Amino acid sequence: MNTGVSPRQAVASAERLVVKIGSSSLTESGGGLDPDRVDSLAGIIAERRAAGSQVVVVSSGAIATGFPHLGLSRRPRELATQQASASVGQGLLLARYTAAFAAHGFTVGQILLTADDMTRRSHYRNAQQTLETLLGLGVIPIVNENDTVATDEIRVGDNDRLAALVAHLVRAQGLVLLSDIDGLYDGPPNRGGTRLIAEVRGPQDLVDVSAGGIGAAGVGLGGMATKVEAARIATAAGIPVVLASAADARSALSGADVGTAFHVTGRRIPSRLLWLGHASTPRGGLRLDDGAVAAVVQRRMSLLPAGVTAVEGDFVAGDPVELLDPTGRVVARGLVNFDSAELPPLLGRSTRDLARELGAAYEREVVHRDDLIIIEA
Ligand code: GLU
Repeated sequence: MNTGVSPRQAVASAERLVVKIGSSSLTESGGGLDPDRVDSLAGIIAERRAAGSQVVVVSSGAIATGFPHLGLSRRPRELATQQASASVGQGLLLARYTAAFAAHGFTVGQILLTADDMTRRSHYRNAQQTLETLLGLGVIPIVNENDTVATDEIRVGDNDRLAALVAHLVRAQGLVLLSDIDGLYDGPPNRGGTRLIAEVRGPQDLVDVSAGGIGAAGVGLGGMATKVEAARIATAAGIPVVLASAADARSALSGADVGTAFHVTGRRIPSRLLWLGHASTPRGGLRLDDGAVAAVVQRRMSLLPAGVTAVEGDFVAGDPVELLDPTGRVVARGLVNFDSAELPPLLGRSTRDLARELGAAYEREVVHRDDLIIIEA
């Protein structure tokens, strides 16, 4: 898909922009907040805000800010200690952002999100409305994952993907990912002979990169895998992305030729489905027969009890589940309308029979088409 506007131009002219800042761009190398770096980035974002754009900041750094205050010498690996670090660090981080933006006359608001909440309609609308209201009031929302309550099961886990989902939620016209790396390279940057990729027009431009180690999730490329994944999510949903070094933040925000620009490859889908597909953790699975796979995947129909052959896992109505073909391949994700314990006696039965025998409440779909996202093979 070619919209004719380059991602850098789109970022430069966006009336609504999401800027994601990584932990390493806000903290000292051994952990702990670096107030000067927060001030400097806040100054650059405030300039953009003063020029009339609305900006949402997705900021990491809660854990990295907090752990030295717990007497730890390095970033904790264990979830409970990460949560404790985030609890201490998030407050300190926000305090610094508040002061830094206040120096430029701007108010900030904190938004802490969990992936699990965002897939449920009422919560997702709440978050969207809060963000919309804050932006309308001229406030700069500072978003992070709600690390202190997010367990491994309900975590997005990385703020790169979180930023892509937030950009989509607020209908931003651009996403800027700032970190300590100055762009996407076709191999580990510390190895000689590697080249910065200035433009990514689609998956074809990433073929060499994957061979160079993207799949190694952070090893050598320093967290590049989640950045590329975030860019893929955003661009597939119609949002251009620029990936740049925090040191180049001003240039990146003004459309200069820095970092890597990811072109739009698709168009907008409902936000809740984007979260369902990319952020939620499935609680179980439904095995479909071939007819149901065709109905759901090709004809985009709801999943009915007649097409389900088996139920896996333990879930309640409203939970995200995977839809699997007869060979066990995941073909879709959806929000299920029944508890796992209710389903076995209903499988393979027509909704009409079920309604006649058990009452009208049993005429409902197992997964409604509006609550379904197809997972591309
Ligand atoms: N939410 C985490 C924090 O604030 C950071 C996650 C990430 O680095 O992507 O510490």
